[in-house]
Amino acid sequence: MIESDTCFYMENKIYTEIQNSFAEYLTEKKLRKTEERFRILEEICTFPGHFDICALHRKLDDQNFHVSKATLYNTLEVLIDGGLIVPLQVSCNAVQYKLRKLAEMHSHVICTKCKTIREIKNYFPKDQLDSVKTPRFTPEFASLYIYGLCSKCKNKMQKKNVSDKKNNKRKQ
Ligand SMILES: [Zn+2]
Repeated sequence: MIESDTCFYMENKIYTEIQNSFAEYLTEKKLRKTEERFRILEEICTFPGHFDICALHRKLDDQNFHVSKATLYNTLEVLIDGGLIVPLQVSCNAVQYKLRKLAEMHSHVICTKCKTIREIKNYFPKDQLDSVKTPRFTPEFASLYIYGLCSKCKNKMQKKNVSDKKNNKRKQ
């Protein structure tokens, strides 16, 4: 389950930028500027954070825009190659994708118990990234994954500890 902390409303300016850079990329690579490709990118821009291919497929279906999963995979590959989206593998589930613009803005906290991922504002500023040594690699942006316990799981564990202690006392 993925929740988004920082409610994200895409500004028109950013949205236009994304569409324009996709168009530029397609021209450069001599790929066709199909309605399908732009429609898929448009739908991707409505996700506040990560999405997987099933969620994207469902969303398009709901809008009565029917494309095959093969077309979706193909378009996602094109979008990755064009630097518009980034793939993230954060669990054993399906690969999650995210707009690069959003990935640059968000870090993540992941609960190791219930596997919930919550997005937080990015705490990895560019100047900090410049100070990280990355041999034979040119970093462009960073998105942090912080592992730990969510408040629900922490509460559950604390309650369990208390009742375990009580039980132990009774046994003694
Ligand atoms: Zn949890």
